[in-house]
Amino acid sequence: MTIPTHNFYEILPDGRYRFRVDNLLINDFNTCDRYFMFRHMGQRIADSEAPVVWASKTLNIKIALGQWWSSVMERTYDQMARGSLPTEHHMWRFATDAWQDDSMEAFAKSDPEVFEKFGGVDGARAMALEYWEAFVRQHWNSWRILGSELGFGWRTDDQGRPEMYLGEDDKVVVYYGGKPDLELVDMAQNMLMPLDHKTKDQIDSSVASSFKPHPQTAGYIWATREMLKHMENVEGVKPPTKCVIMVAARFRPTDKPRKGVRKPRFMPVYPSYSEAEIEEWRVSVVEKCRRLRDAIERNVWIPRESACHLFYHGCMFLRVCSTPPNMREHILQADFQRVAPWQPYDVEEI
Ligand code: SF4
Repeated sequence: MTIPTHNFYEILPDGRYRFRVDNLLINDFNTCDRYFMFRHMGQRIADSEAPVVWASKTLNIKIALGQWWSSVMERTYDQMARGSLPTEHHMWRFATDAWQDDSMEAFAKSDPEVFEKFGGVDGARAMALEYWEAFVRQHWNSWRILGSELGFGWRTDDQGRPEMYLGEDDKVVVYYGGKPDLELVDMAQNMLMPLDHKTKDQIDSSVASSFKPHPQTAGYIWATREMLKHMENVEGVKPPTKCVIMVAARFRPTDKPRKGVRKPRFMPVYPSYSEAEIEEWRVSVVEKCRRLRDAIERNVWIPRESACHLFYHGCMFLRVCSTPPNMREHILQADFQRVAPWQPYDVEEI
């Protein structure tokens, strides 16, 4: 197998590796070296072809519901950023349009049990209306929305904005990028904050503590501080010490729970970090990149068995790793599709 040169790293004249990473890339490596190899290192099938990586042939309905919800939220807060409060009718429209755009009806056949539990397009509209009732007017009154899906970190235009330099040592130089769902100013605290939407089956008592420690929340706070230096109309606004995670339950909580207390459908969580904690995160990403360089150089991708049964239904490569090494390539070819690898320049810059 030939390991091709990738967009996320290059070798500098001084021999160090220059990495461009985001949370997904570095977290995949942190989860399992072999998973990273399948998902990001790829193969060059022929000399003339671009490298390709392995991806599932089917999209998990729970992941699809998360993407659909992000799309509804993007439409909602985009409208606020343009100076108009979304109405109930808008929410119904956003839910319906995103449902169609994401071809969600296809899951009625491929995953009927979860589809029915969610409630199809009627469940989608009800979820959007429930969010409107709970949070839309509150956020309209308490937040100034600066923009949704504002990417940071990659130099894609000719305006001379710098990539976001994260750190370096004698082996690596690291740049960081990403795309929080929203950037907002909390007017009561006069603080700039990144926000991300997350979906879970249901919201239980562990949700409040599940986003710290968390590499994405720390990274968004670090990056939003950097973004503040280039933003307009934010004079006097404080840099963030916290971010907002808006957690939504995919499945509507029952109105008659056995323990008598109805679980919430939505819950905002506010992970907060001190300067020392952000610095600890920054140093850890540089260290992970150093380990990634070692894996690339030696072409050694150890399986991290403790991660095999994580994810929604276990790792997508479970069947591959459960078979003898000489059979794995056959299973990859039969059960997976080849796609273009992660591309650091896919996101817009602020
Ligand atoms: S099945 Fe386990 S060892 Fe294999 S890629 Fe997934 S997490 Fe890694």
